[in-house]
Amino acid sequence: FLAGKTAVITGSNSGIGLGVAERLAAAGADVVLNSFTDRDEDHALAEKLAAAHGVTARYIMADMSKGDACRALVEQAGRCDILVNNAGIQHVAAIPDFPAEKWDAIIAINLSSAFHTTAAALPMMRDAGWGRVINIASAHGLTASPYKSAYVAAKHGIVGLTKVTGLETAREPITANAICPGYVLTPLVEAQIPDTMAKYGMGRDEVIEKVLLERQPSKEFATTGQLGDTAVFLCSDAAAQITGTTISVDGGWTAL
Ligand code: NAD
Repeated sequence: FLAGKTAVITGSNSGIGLGVAERLAAAGADVVLNSFTDRDEDHALAEKLAAAHGVTARYIMADMSKGDACRALVEQAGRCDILVNNAGIQHVAAIPDFPAEKWDAIIAINLSSAFHTTAAALPMMRDAGWGRVINIASAHGLTASPYKSAYVAAKHGIVGLTKVTGLETAREPITANAICPGYVLTPLVEAQIPDTMAKYGMGRDEVIEKVLLERQPSKEFATTGQLGDTAVFLCSDAAAQITGTTISVDGGWTAL
């Protein structure tokens, strides 16, 4: 049902972004993949999606830490009916030890990028007469954890930006929502496992159950496919009156 629509997904050469791109392509959307690298394997991901789903798929390099590059990504896409702001990084440290440059990078990539891409995409959505802004926030957009100051601040910020985007487009056939995943086993989470093992003196399985999934009552990771299907749902007519809000896909985390 998304044939003829173009989806731009930031940070989509891996993890959740790639999962969302796959499900949108499976629903018929043309997709623009993105990250800050420009490797053959990045372009190959787009070719693979195009071949698998019979859609047009492109990979466009753009560094989401830079406002101009965020806007240029959307301009280069040429059309943006569905904008998925997904690019994100993490850094874990207590506030006094948190490197200022990490704070700046997380706020730029996880929050400000969505402001810039949304600013560039809304006029295109208005011209097309339809649009969907889908921000990949986090359970950390609704709750906090120690040692993740920049990430929690950025994710709460993107939930706020989502509400404003929903209000500014409320009278139009455009919606803006944030998906708030709990833990999903992606490279971003995988990278946190060795440090966490060392910190708690635990093995991998114990870290997964007792630390990572401590606050996820289902004791299961959400999958990138489930997040992709949530994005597809937000593009459907059933979701036309869902705007300016959050959808948690967190195994009960935020119910605690
Ligand atoms: P990931 O590391 O697999 O993917 C992050 C993506 O962002 C990658 O494609 C990476 O290349 C891209 N990226 C990083 N810096 C970039 C930059 N400067 N410019 C362009 N692209 C850049 O991680 P993921 O887990 O798939 O995370 C995707 C999003 O989901 C993030 O916003 C993350 O905060 C959010 N999230 C993840 C989880 C989880 O458990 N994995 C939970 C909640 C929210």
